[in-house]
Amino acid sequence: EEVVAYRLSMDGIVVKGKDCPRPIKNWAQCGVTKKEMTILKKHDYMKPTAIQTQAIPAIMSGRDVIGIAKTGSGKTLAFLLPMFRHILDQPPLGEKDGPIAVICTPTRELALQITKEAKKFAKSVDLNVVCVYGGTGISEQIAELKRGTEIIVCTPGRMIDMLAANNGNVTNLKRVTYLVLDEADRMFDMGFEPQVMLIVDNIRPDRQTVLFSATFPRQMEALARRVLVKPIEIQVGGRS
Ligand code: ADP
Ligand code: MG
Repeated sequence: EEVVAYRLSMDGIVVKGKDCPRPIKNWAQCGVTKKEMTILKKHDYMKPTAIQTQAIPAIMSGRDVIGIAKTGSGKTLAFLLPMFRHILDQPPLGEKDGPIAVICTPTRELALQITKEAKKFAKSVDLNVVCVYGGTGISEQIAELKRGTEIIVCTPGRMIDMLAANNGNVTNLKRVTYLVLDEADRMFDMGFEPQVMLIVDNIRPDRQTVLFSATFPRQMEALARRVLVKPIEIQVGGRS
């Protein structure tokens, strides 16, 4: 397969993959809603960070994306903003529908952080976010899921417990069309690959999948190949 690689000199972004959309320079260029713009300004997110400039239009174009950029570079918003757009383009949730988007991340702290960030925007577009993580009672999380949610942020182990709970009647992944593997290198290091693959195998193959990571070690490439289809790979700074 032909691979196009080029470097955007200013921010040192390397893009690999066919037909990647051009980077955005400001929020208006990726079509954020008026409400989202207000929230971005309120939190002093004046313009997109380097990874956001290229990952947001790539994801919004519907492609699978691998985004690699160091910790603190704004990867969370790079998958959240396209996620809201993706969900709002779908029919609303029916009575017993499971989520439309699932975000997997290795630790409870990260899951709670992502949930907090997502909730800054979710209310204004009338979407629900539920955080599913281990090390705490499961019943309250089950109750939350039963009320219905478009978005689940989860750690892999507890998500699998949820899929098994009550013979799978708590939630199902049949409607999931947007999957995020966040901090993928840490999930990999912590040995969560089997759990992640079990979640992935419960989601329809025609989903959109995005993977974000601070590093992209060679051993992770096999996982990426199994999970993503013709991804655009975006890397800020050198490969580590
Ligand atoms: P990463 O996942 O790459 O480690 P985060 O998504 O957690 O990074 O973002 C790091 C910090 O940068 C957070 O405090 C976040 O609120 C902030 N941030 C994200 N995007 C922007 C932006 N466009 N402008 C300013 N700050 C931002
Ligand atoms: Mg992160």
